[in-house]
Formats: sequence, structure tokens, C-alpha cells
Amino acid sequence: MTRIDPRSDIKVMSKYHSPQVDVPIRLNTNESPFDPPTAWLHDVNDALQSIHWNRYPDRSASKLRAAIAARHGVSVDNVFVANGSNEVLQTLLLTYAGAGRTVATFEPTYQLHTHLSRISGATVVSGDRREDFTLDLDEVRRVLNTYSPHVTFLCSPNNPTGRIEDRAVVDEVVRTAPGIVVIDEAYAEFADWSALELIQEDRAVAVSRTFSKTWSLAALRLGYLIAPTWMIEQMEAVVLPYHLDTFKQIAGEKALAYVNEMDARVAGIVSERERIVAHLGALPVDTWPSGANFILFRPRQIGALVVWQRLLEAGVLVRDCSSWDRLQGCLRVTVGTPEENGVFMSALSRALS
Ligand code: PMP
Repeated sequence: MTRIDPRSDIKVMSKYHSPQVDVPIRLNTNESPFDPPTAWLHDVNDALQSIHWNRYPDRSASKLRAAIAARHGVSVDNVFVANGSNEVLQTLLLTYAGAGRTVATFEPTYQLHTHLSRISGATVVSGDRREDFTLDLDEVRRVLNTYSPHVTFLCSPNNPTGRIEDRAVVDEVVRTAPGIVVIDEAYAEFADWSALELIQEDRAVAVSRTFSKTWSLAALRLGYLIAPTWMIEQMEAVVLPYHLDTFKQIAGEKALAYVNEMDARVAGIVSERERIVAHLGALPVDTWPSGANFILFRPRQIGALVVWQRLLEAGVLVRDCSSWDRLQGCLRVTVGTPEENGVFMSALSRALS
């Protein structure tokens, strides 16, 4: 059999994935620890009966987009939907990045921003965050002035650090960036402000969101972008026809009827996050303020890999970020159920002793 090599620029990329190890407590991929509301399951089950399975879906996903638009007080023409926010970002990059164009990221941040940009064919330029993982405006200006990127990524709260981007800094980036500014808000519901308020028709600013975290629907693969209408129109021309199936359109629309349940879960997760933060504060680890549903921490006395392994032996899987650029020695834990967090906290205390 003849093997054909992939594009040479793709060959050198490392794959992005988190190992799916079979353990009792999985706190490694920032999912919600809770099932979606049972009533939603019934709604979806009923809706299944009325789908015209022989027909292509509504290409413009109009009902789902209208429900998302209503939630955020924008027009349906400001909403783009796709299979997870990763596909949203990929479509944006296929539209505005690509060969001969440049994308800026500020590291450490979500690795897929770089990965998807490179797959699009674009060149990625990276600025550094400060030691405490906040954005340094001088460094941001340097990158923007030197490279004039077509797309600039921010991420708030930032994965994997958990930090919320400073509002004044985001304002400044939006004012000065030469191309499109995308604020990835996969974890926005856990944070105290959102860049959605910055979206205007005459600004090249877009905010991406997902159903994978707060909505307890990672299995559904649904995400969206709120952006000026011209941007949505241009992305619609790039995305595959009928990319979002009928089932998903219905399931997402029905989920949006359960905002109160979602808000209650967010409040519960935030209070559990603070319980874990307080526990970490009494242990020999460095931590950074988190506005998300996960916490980055760095053991001070014992190697991260040893701690990771000890946690695994106790049945708890966390994300090993210790080999990632600028994150030497770091682990990231997702907030789970109160019981899971209890097991994690006592396993960590033992692992560090
Ligand atoms: N952005 C960030 C910052 C994320 O952490 C994730 C999930 N790991 C995504 C986007 C992708 O989410 P989705 O499941 O919607 O593709």
C-alpha cells in the first residue's frame, strides 16, 4: 500500500489530546461533573419523534440561533453556530487566517488556537504573558506593531491558567489590533465579566462560547460565535453546507430553556472551586486566581509527574501540563462534584506529604 505524506507543515505539528484514562474520578478536561437536567432529556426525546430524518437540516439553524441571540440580547444575524467552539474557531480561521496571513496568541493559552491556525496555513506569532499569566500591554503592543496580525486571540478565563483577562487590557487590544480580535469565552459563565459588551457592528471583535462546560453538554459538540453581522455572513460562506445536524439544533435550543438550572450549577461549581482553592492555599503548591471551573497549580517540593501519578493511583485523573511551554511543573484540576473534590483534596494532601 502506498502511504502518502500529509502536508509538510502539518507533519511537524504535535497532536492535541488529553489521555482518556479509565479512572473513577476524571478531573482532566474541564467538563461539567453533572448530567444535564432530566427534563431536557425528556424534551429531546419527544423532539426526536418529529424530526424529518430524510431531510437535510435547516441550513441557517434559525431557531437555535434565535434562542442564542435572545439569551445575549443580540440579533440572530450576530450568531454563528458550529460543532463545538473548536469548529467555530476553525471556521473563523479558515475565513480570516490561512496561507500568507498571521495569527497572534499570548502564551500560555489554549493550545488549539495555535494548532487550528497552523492547520489553516497561517503563521502564528506568540507573545509572552507575565509570570503571573496576566497580559502585559507592552508585550501586546510589541506583537501587534511588529506583526500586524490578521487575527489576535485572547481567552477569558484563559485555559489553562484560569485567569480572567483584565477588562481595560481587552479594551485596549480591541482598540489597537489591526485585524480581528477573538475572545474565547469557553468558561465565561464562571467569570465576573464578559467581552460580549464590546461587540459592535463597526468593530472587528468576536466572542466564542460553548455548550461543553456550563451546559453539561460536552457530548453534544455545540458552540457559537457572537460577532458583527458582516463577520457572520462571511463565515457562513466558508463553513460546510448543512454542517449542523437537525438533532443538535433542537437539543441546543431546548437546553436554552434551562438557564436557571445552569446558573445554579455554575454557582455550585464556583463555590466548590473556592473550597479547593482554600485547601490548596494550605499546601506546598503555587496557584493562580481562577475565574473558571478549573485550577492550575504547581507542587513546590515534589515533581509534578510524581504527584500526577500518585493522584492517578488514588483514582483521580488531573491534566499534566508540566511539559507544556511556560508551564513547567504545573498540573490542572477540573472542579468536580463535592464528593470528587473531597477525594481529590485528600489524595493531593497525601501525594504531597
Ligand atoms: N476554548 C477553550 C479555551 C477550551 O478550553 C475549550 C475546551 N477544552 C474549547 C474552546 C473547545 O470547546 P468545545 O468543546 O466547544 O469545542
